[in-house]
Amino acid sequence: MKRELELKITEEFPFMRRGKNIDEQRKEVGHISDLYGAFGCGVGDGWYEVIRGLCRDITEAYTKAGLPVDIIVDQVKEKFGTLRFYYHPEAHDPGIHAFVSVSDGKSIRIMPGISELHKEVAEIVQKWEKESSNVCEKCGIAGDLRKDLSWVLTLCDSCYARLSKK
Ligand SMILES: [Zn+2]
Repeated sequence: MKRELELKITEEFPFMRRGKNIDEQRKEVGHISDLYGAFGCGVGDGWYEVIRGLCRDITEAYTKAGLPVDIIVDQVKEKFGTLRFYYHPEAHDPGIHAFVSVSDGKSIRIMPGISELHKEVAEIVQKWEKESSNVCEKCGIAGDLRKDLSWVLTLCDSCYARLSKK
C-alpha cells in the first residue's frame, strides 16, 4: 500500500503505528516477528477502505468497553487472494497464537485465555478478512476471487481483464 494511504491510517488509528513491537514491547531492534514494522500494510491500495473498516470496528469495540486498544499488529498481507491481519494482544506473547488451516484455505485462530473483548476483535478481523474477497485489491471497487491467474487475487472485472492480458 502506498505510503500516503498508510500514513492516513496511522493518523486515524494510532494502534496501527509501525514499530510498536520494537519500541514498546521488545526493545529489540529488528525483532524477527515484527513483519508489520518492516513491511507495513503489504496489500494493494484497493483495500484501504477494508483496512479502515477493520480498524474502525476494533476502535469502536474498545471505546464501547472503555478501554484503550491493546493489540500489537504483527503482519498485514494478502494470502490466497484475501486479507490476513495478524496481531496479538499486548499482554500475550505472539508465540501463544496457534494457527489451524481448514480445508477452504481460511485459517482459524485459537488464542487461549483471552477476554470477551479479544474474542470480539478476532471476530471483527475475520469479518473484514472475509469482506476483502469482495473488494478489488487494486482499485477498491466490487471484485471477485480470481483463481486462474499466476497468483490468486481479488479483482474487479477491469483490473482482472488488464492482468489476464499480460
Ligand atoms: Zn479493480
